Amino acid sequence: MSDKNWTIEKAEQTYRVKNWGDGYFGINEAGNLTVQPTSKKKSEVEIKKVVEEMKSQGVKLPAVIRFHDILRSQVKNINRIFRDTIHEADYDGKYYGVYPIKVNQMREVVEEIIDAGAPYDFGLEAGSKSELLAALVHNENPNSLTVLNGYKDEDYLRLALIGRKLNRKIIIVIEKFSELKNILRLSKEMNVTPLIGLRGKMSLQGRGKWANSCGDKAKFGLTTAEILNAVKVMEENNLMSSIVLFHYHIGSQISDIRTFKDAINEAGRIYAKLYKMGCHLEYFDAGGGLGIDYDGSRSNNDSSRNYNVKEYAQDIVYGLKQICELEGVPHPNIVTESGRAITAHHSCVITNVIDRIDRHKNNFDTSVTEGEHILVENMRTLEQESNKFTKENFQTIFNESVQIKEEGLNAFKLGVIGLDERAKIETIHWRIMEKIVSYVESTKTFVPEELKNLSVDIAPQYLCNFSVFQSAADHWAIDQILPLVPISRLNERPTTQCGIADITCDSDGKIDCFIGPDGHNETVLLHDIKEDEEYLVGLFLTGAYQDVMGDNHNLFGRVNEVHVFSDAEDPQGFYIEEIIKGNSAAQVLSTMQYNPEYMAQSLKKLINKEITRGNIAPRVGVNLVDFYEDCLANYTYLN
Ligand SMILES: *Cc1c(COP(=O)(O)O)cnc(C)c1O
Repeated sequence: MSDKNWTIEKAEQTYRVKNWGDGYFGINEAGNLTVQPTSKKKSEVEIKKVVEEMKSQGVKLPAVIRFHDILRSQVKNINRIFRDTIHEADYDGKYYGVYPIKVNQMREVVEEIIDAGAPYDFGLEAGSKSELLAALVHNENPNSLTVLNGYKDEDYLRLALIGRKLNRKIIIVIEKFSELKNILRLSKEMNVTPLIGLRGKMSLQGRGKWANSCGDKAKFGLTTAEILNAVKVMEENNLMSSIVLFHYHIGSQISDIRTFKDAINEAGRIYAKLYKMGCHLEYFDAGGGLGIDYDGSRSNNDSSRNYNVKEYAQDIVYGLKQICELEGVPHPNIVTESGRAITAHHSCVITNVIDRIDRHKNNFDTSVTEGEHILVENMRTLEQESNKFTKENFQTIFNESVQIKEEGLNAFKLGVIGLDERAKIETIHWRIMEKIVSYVESTKTFVPEELKNLSVDIAPQYLCNFSVFQSAADHWAIDQILPLVPISRLNERPTTQCGIADITCDSDGKIDCFIGPDGHNETVLLHDIKEDEEYLVGLFLTGAYQDVMGDNHNLFGRVNEVHVFSDAEDPQGFYIEEIIKGNSAAQVLSTMQYNPEYMAQSLKKLINKEITRGNIAPRVGVNLVDFYEDCLANYTYLN
């Protein structure tokens, strides 16, 4: 394009698509973001095309796009990798992975995973009664596992035992010693033999955002003493053969591979000791934690991981093998509960930039007016000086500008200057700040601490049609980085360093942590928005947790959703298999106990009253009521 020095490689360096995209996402020569949902190069599709197709079918933005092929491919990958590793290691056990439903409970997602995992006897993990209700009917494979975690009341346990009556391999994992008594009583009452797992509380201190999933502070799991007590109780009840699994979970998004190594050493020994005590465990369940390289840095920072799936599998398989051989016990079957790693890539949120907010930029007239206060004049003089910045004076000019602005505010509070003068002082101040930032950037001058945040303070914000609380809950809650990338114009140099604000009226409704050239940045580099062209950005890797954790903050509700499959026969190379409408205003209002019908009637009554009084013409009144009803029925996001 116009800028010859800008290349696709530069775009790649800026957004690190290849690294976080893990073979699924890329940038093509035309500067469009592409997705390659299956491993075949031919399946490559421009995301822009999917959005166009979506729009032609009446689906408005923001929208979630799910690539079901990615889901299938991820399921296949993890199973193949574990099978290959087991084969290479000459390991005697098999791999029986389970998918933890809580990571993305959408029925279509669970069904797709079960279907793609069928050849590998891939199962499900449930952590609550509702999830168990789903798992009971969605995992019908008698060879795959259904692992049950979480706190369990009697109903939960009864449901699990019904599963046993249906010949499923449903394993109840004991998290609390007290659960054991209930299981024993209910299985007698229902006359079934339960399959039981023991969850160990690992001693190692986790790292990262979920560090409290293990160690002494962990909410779940049995201490060594409790494990031994549990075994004793089982022995007394003649149920030793019911203990079939040992489980541990050291937290999610483990960024450092050493954490897995530590865990396997401890857990492997527990397994071996239990085996020798007569618990002939068939399964060793290493839980979740397999991370995603959200920022593409391949490092051990919280939003990344310093290993790949193969290395993860090797650590478990070889680590366990070694311990088993040292202890002289058989190799158990291996279970993992990876949710994030399976689902993160398959969905993204596409939104349109609807406005640019320049917090401090305006065209307010700052020219001289008669009798204005000396502070305004001083600020103006300072601005003239700022036309000739030097290494020596830019810091002084910064200090003085800040000082005059503060004095101006004080003078205003004391009633010494008026609104007009205050506005002039502030406007000129921010113009000077902008000049300082461009001076510092262009000369690569050493930047003193207090100036470091200046570029963030003056950066514009792009207002995007979405809600962080609905679509990127973890960004709001725990500063999780999710890659944000324009879906086209990647062959043009992006020139605006900006923040992202959402359309909720919450000051937390923003994204302020992005992939940066060297680490994380508070702003992201995007293109200038044009009057006549929609600018679309995608928020990626939202398939794990984000998809389902969203809330109704500001009553925006769920976004539109399309399910995309690639298809070599199709002229576009893909088709939209299903459209799921996001929430209408009436729907989200209903969840908060409003009655939309009653609301429409009330508005009608109010308008009729005004019609009777002669304040509104009847025809106009009818239109107003229709409009109100349309708004109730329509999508909650911006039109
Ligand atoms: C949440 C959870 C998982 C999933 O962890 P990921 O890191 O997303 O793979 C697995 N097991 C248990 C017990 C969990 O609570």
